Amino acid sequence: MLLIVGTRSRKVKVDGGIVRGQHCSKCGSMQIFEEVKWINHFCLFLVPLFPIQSNKSVESVLACPTCNTSYEI
Ligand SMILES: [Zn+2]
Repeated sequence: MLLIVGTRSRKVKVDGGIVRGQHCSKCGSMQIFEEVKWINHFCLFLVPLFPIQSNKSVESVLACPTCNTSYEI
């Protein structure tokens, strides 16, 4: 039997976080950016199952909803 396991970063929205209209330098459009955290998850057959990082150990960033480019806050 073949098992495919690994990790994948998933974008998790910060409750009550910053929401800001901003120009994205990568995709070149005006977007509503939200404060998010990129948290590593354990994956089985490419499906993220559960986080393997603490939510508090990851710094939050502003992410573009179109291209997922992250900007420091
Ligand atoms: Zn963008």
